[in-house]
Amino acid sequence: MAYLTDPRDLGSLIGEEPTYRADQLHDWLYKTPVLTTAEMTNLPPALRDSLADRLWPFAVEAEQSADGGKTRKWLFRAHDGMAIEAVLMGYHNRTTLCISSQAGCALGCTFCATGQFGFDRHLEAGEIVAQVQYANAWLRSNPMDGSPRRVTNIVFMGMGEPLANYDRVRESIRRMIEHIGMGARSITVSTVGMVPGMRRLADEPWQVGLAVSLHAADDELRSSILPINKRYPLAEVEAAAARYFEAKGRRVSIEWTMLAGVNDTIDQAEKLAPIARRLRAHVNLIAMNPTPLSLDQPSKRAVIEQFAETLEDLGVNVTIRNTRGQEIDAACGQLRVRAATPTQS
Ligand code: SAH
Ligand code: SF4
Repeated sequence: MAYLTDPRDLGSLIGEEPTYRADQLHDWLYKTPVLTTAEMTNLPPALRDSLADRLWPFAVEAEQSADGGKTRKWLFRAHDGMAIEAVLMGYHNRTTLCISSQAGCALGCTFCATGQFGFDRHLEAGEIVAQVQYANAWLRSNPMDGSPRRVTNIVFMGMGEPLANYDRVRESIRRMIEHIGMGARSITVSTVGMVPGMRRLADEPWQVGLAVSLHAADDELRSSILPINKRYPLAEVEAAAARYFEAKGRRVSIEWTMLAGVNDTIDQAEKLAPIARRLRAHVNLIAMNPTPLSLDQPSKRAVIEQFAETLEDLGVNVTIRNTRGQEIDAACGQLRVRAATPTQS
């Protein structure tokens, strides 16, 4: 697969062609991506043909759009049958792509659809980068009204725990920065609190953003919704986040999915506030998307607003995140559900 090949090894794909063909191919893959090899106009037809089936490491199984065309979800199918999903969201001044780092997830957070279906396998670096370049190739021929015509921001908030697939995720970030030319600051890794991975990422040379999915501000509650908390308890997660901030000079953000009667209480807001203040973190409150197998329910809007006000009164920066793509199940924690339950319409 072209995308599964390290960019440094593209020479192995060009056969007997002169070496400058590898540079041309590199540009088609990383600089001006196209949906089909037929569009690689400066390559000889025979070479284009030989690469045609190997351009993408997956087939596009389904494409859906929502929010008046401002949100687009792709369900890709890897050659071994694994589902890989990515969601593109166009805004006024940025185009954000939410990508997957694993097929499934082993961490089993109670409210997350991905976690409920278990872990299948890690995605390869090329499979992660191909999600980005597919979206870039698509945007070049399908501009989203008023949004930039390339992916400007990446969030690792699709399926999987990126820091549980550290080396491949790292390599994908390297390719995004060094080959696609993205700024490290426009890439955000979201983690449920895999402390060793947070420490390693802090030591990388890039100012990648870090979002910590906290969701609960004491160990008892956190362990009951995020089983990984038993291994990496809250104090260790906070220490790793503080270290990240020190190493990068870049504030982390705290993600908090609002679960009715579970973590949306004033008590939790009051426990979260000092953590957020110590980290100088921005808190994003996310409305929970109901998933078929979860007993958790979304908090009422008024409760979310009150939680946000309590945090604000305690000196915390907080945003209630707008959800996108709900009617196509493109929102957080929804990916994979349709793929796993194909009988649903
Ligand atoms: N594994 C990583 C990244 C993928 S999940 C992590 O957990 O951070 C991305 C975000 O979606 C996380 O903040 C996660 O808590 C949130 N999420 C998961 N299921 C959700 C749901 N049903 N509704 C709303 N947000 C959800
Ligand atoms: Fe995995 Fe993140 Fe879902 Fe938890 S919320 S099960 S870590 S993908």
